[in-house]
Amino acid sequence: MTIWIGLTGGIGSGKSQVAAIFASFNVPIIDTDAISRSLTAENGQALPAIYDAFGAEVFETPKRLNRAVLRERIFNSACLKTRLEQIMLPLIRSYSRQMMNQYQQAAFGIIEVPLLIEKKAFQKLVHRILVVDSAESLRIERVKQRSGLDEPEIKRIMANQASRSERWRAADDILLNDGSLQELQAKVGRLHRYYTAVFRPNH
Ligand code: ADP
Repeated sequence: MTIWIGLTGGIGSGKSQVAAIFASFNVPIIDTDAISRSLTAENGQALPAIYDAFGAEVFETPKRLNRAVLRERIFNSACLKTRLEQIMLPLIRSYSRQMMNQYQQAAFGIIEVPLLIEKKAFQKLVHRILVVDSAESLRIERVKQRSGLDEPEIKRIMANQASRSERWRAADDILLNDGSLQELQAKVGRLHRYYTAVFRPNH
C-alpha cells in the first residue's frame, strides 16, 4: 500500500517548492491545483456541471470558462462559492484517487492540497499531514515577488485560509520554511530519508 502524505500550507508558505524538491527525489507528486485547472480547462470534465449551475454568463464559449466572471460571482456570494465547491471538490477527489491508483508500487507519495485543513473531506485521501509554514511577513514578500499581487489582496486571501495554529494542530510533520532555498532543500532531504525509512514496504 502506498502511504499518501498530504502537503499543505497557506499561500506563499512554499508548498510548490517543497513538492518540487520531493519530485527531484523521484517521489510521486499529485497536485490538486493542477487537477482543478485541468477539470476547468477548455472541454474540462467540470464544465457541464458548472454550466448547469451558473449558466452561459460564466462562459466565453460553450466549452470555455470565463474565469474572471466566475471569480467575480463567487467572490460576491458565499452561496455560489459553496455551490462551485460542491461541484469541484468531489471531482478533484475522484481524479486524485485515479492518479493515486497509478502509483501502487511507490512506498509513499505526496499529494499537494492547499485546502487540506479547510476542507476536511480531502483528509480521507491521505494517511499523514505535512504542513509547510513560514512567517506571514515572509509569505507576503514571496507572493508579491511571485505573482505581483499587492499586500491587501494577499492578506485577504490569507484571512480566508486556516490560521497557522489550526494547521499546526492538524499536522503530523511541520517544515518551517523560514530560511534559504538551500536550507529548505536540506530539511526536505532529511524528511525524505525519514519517510523512506518509516514507510519502506513490509516495515
Ligand atoms: P505556495 O505553493 O505555498 O503558494 P511557493 O512554493 O510557490 O508557495 O513559494 C512562494 C514563492 O516563494 C515562490 O516563488 C518560491 O520559489 C519562493 N520560495 C519558497 N521558499 C523559498 C525560500 N526558502 N527562499 C526563497 N524563496 C522561496
